[in-house]
Amino acid sequence: MKRLVVLAVLLAACSRSDVRSIDDAALSDTTNGENWLALGRTLNEQRFSPLKQIDTSNVANLKVDWFLDLPETRGLVSPPLVNNGVLYFIGSLNVVRAVDATNGRVLWSYDPHVAQQVGDRMRVGFDNSRGIALWRDKVILASWDGRLIGLDAATGREQWSTMTLDPAKAVYVTGAPKVFKDKVIIGSGGTEQGPARGYVTAYYAATGKQAWRFNIVPGNPADGFENAAMEMAAKTWTGEWWKFGGGGNAWHGFTYDAELDRLYIGTGNGSPWNQKIRSPGGGDNLFLCSIVALNPDTGEYLWHYQTNPGESWDYNSNMDIVLADLPIGGRTVKAILHAPKNGFFYVIDRENGKLLSADPFTTVTWATSIDTVTGRPNEIAAARYPDGRASVAPGPIGGHNWHAMSYNPATGLAYYPAIHMAYTYSDSGIDLASWKSPDWQRGTGVTASDAVSSRSDGVTGSLQAWDPVRRKLAWEVPLDGWWNPGTMTSAGNLVFEGRADGHFVAYNATTGAELWKFNVGSGISAPPITYAVEGRQYVALLVGWGGAGIGSGGPSLARYGWAYGVHPRRLIAFSLDGNAALPPSPPPVLVTPLAAREFGVDAALAAKGSTEFGNRCRTCHGVAAFSGGLAPDLRASGVVLSAIGFADVVRGGARVAKGMPAFRSLTDDELLAIRHYIRQRAEAGLAPPK
Ligand code: CA
Repeated sequence: MKRLVVLAVLLAACSRSDVRSIDDAALSDTTNGENWLALGRTLNEQRFSPLKQIDTSNVANLKVDWFLDLPETRGLVSPPLVNNGVLYFIGSLNVVRAVDATNGRVLWSYDPHVAQQVGDRMRVGFDNSRGIALWRDKVILASWDGRLIGLDAATGREQWSTMTLDPAKAVYVTGAPKVFKDKVIIGSGGTEQGPARGYVTAYYAATGKQAWRFNIVPGNPADGFENAAMEMAAKTWTGEWWKFGGGGNAWHGFTYDAELDRLYIGTGNGSPWNQKIRSPGGGDNLFLCSIVALNPDTGEYLWHYQTNPGESWDYNSNMDIVLADLPIGGRTVKAILHAPKNGFFYVIDRENGKLLSADPFTTVTWATSIDTVTGRPNEIAAARYPDGRASVAPGPIGGHNWHAMSYNPATGLAYYPAIHMAYTYSDSGIDLASWKSPDWQRGTGVTASDAVSSRSDGVTGSLQAWDPVRRKLAWEVPLDGWWNPGTMTSAGNLVFEGRADGHFVAYNATTGAELWKFNVGSGISAPPITYAVEGRQYVALLVGWGGAGIGSGGPSLARYGWAYGVHPRRLIAFSLDGNAALPPSPPPVLVTPLAAREFGVDAALAAKGSTEFGNRCRTCHGVAAFSGGLAPDLRASGVVLSAIGFADVVRGGARVAKGMPAFRSLTDDELLAIRHYIRQRAEAGLAPPK
């Protein structure tokens, strides 16, 4: 009986879907509002839907139509995709599911067993992915460990799997593959855990076989250059950069321009961050922190625009690259809209890569302006921490991170979550001449301070609506927190955005007025989508506190109470006719450190442990062992009290399956120091307020 039901559901799904129709024309069709076929909905990456059943007049009546509880307990950061009534999404631990888009019934599920594949290599971000791609009869995903995998969209069965990176290197994939012209492109993240040389690779979508590869930074000149672009780029580097990899990793921000038949990739920061180490004689260090235009058929270099020549602050340019036609200077300009980490909103002419405008959307202190004639920033000399130390804004989390930026052609506004922060960059105490790339632990050539105040105190966020023609904010909504997810906008003159505090909100796209607000009972980290089936418009959203940002921890993230492993992970769809009731979510949990004064903290050991903790543990367990919810709060952990138990988990890998990496190289002395540091932080958390 059960089998018959499953079969019937599958048949219904197959009859409704015409997956073979997904090609460049379908992905370019801005008029079909029923589907949401790609990360940015259509190839222009606008995340704009022409649907208007839900609009400013009725959005206040939006209700839960259906929901799906998910068994995984970790981060959800991607938008679902919809094709003809079937909704596809990638969840925690890279599990992909297809569900009936009208009721959430699961049609198939595919598990790449990412934790088992990753094993000892597991590091930051391994539990989540920013999205998948649909192409003809396939769903294509990239798993954290670097596999690009083609699935049959009708059944979820694996059709091909290709390893895209060298598993010995500390790089990984958290990004969504981008499909175009029967190919699929993927890059990788990294640059903070070991030497990394960034590249993107295009594969044939039908087979997973490689079509071409483009390196983002040059290798050792003694080995010869792969192409003229690398030879040109090498002239902008000094020293022996190849020993550190150089960086530039493309982990997000791929856009295919079907009108001009070009591919744009956003490139990453340097490996390591500190240019004094990476390229000690200076230089622009192409193609770090750039938008690079490539020939989509061959991967050949066409042009580039570099946002941060010689970057030294982790100011990567991996953020969304959105295409829009803008009225500028009496003509219609085919523009790129780009709001990278460095805090400037860029408008670039994509016919030639020339800068049209760049204006700060948050507090920016590393540069006074961007010269629109040369396209280069007017940097403040002190920003490069010449005396070993400088407070600079934005910080390494950026004025805007990877969270979705949408653009509404009716309002002419771009919507994205902004982050307002400064950061103290310091390399005093680091021997720049002898610095070596780390080996699967954090190392950026900049001091990894473990003081709470260095990261997230005083950091705020806002939802911004930027007018790229008038070059200024149209409106801004201050938000109570800074790690807020991306946006979606619609012809109903609406902007939707979830919030770190668990509220899902709809705004008037023109004015920013709040029109609807719904508490989902858990922190939101993914952007929403909208689609329609049989005349009903839905708004759908994955709910699951996640993303690398919450790993930084501290009170500004912990105060929501989205403690690790407590709150449900869900896919929720809303409509005007919805009548489903969401089960109550557990109340927020504010972690109390474990009282164990008998442990007897040794201050000297704790001081040593602070450095070890900063290099290995802080990325997930939070600054000063104050978890933001990405991993357990170790101040409350009994495991820390036991030398044997702690060694089992941290060095022995006893909890790899649950997501805790194994740090096999740690010595007994280092483990002891880390325990003393964690207990010191626990005692500090227990101390009565002064
Ligand atoms: Ca980075």
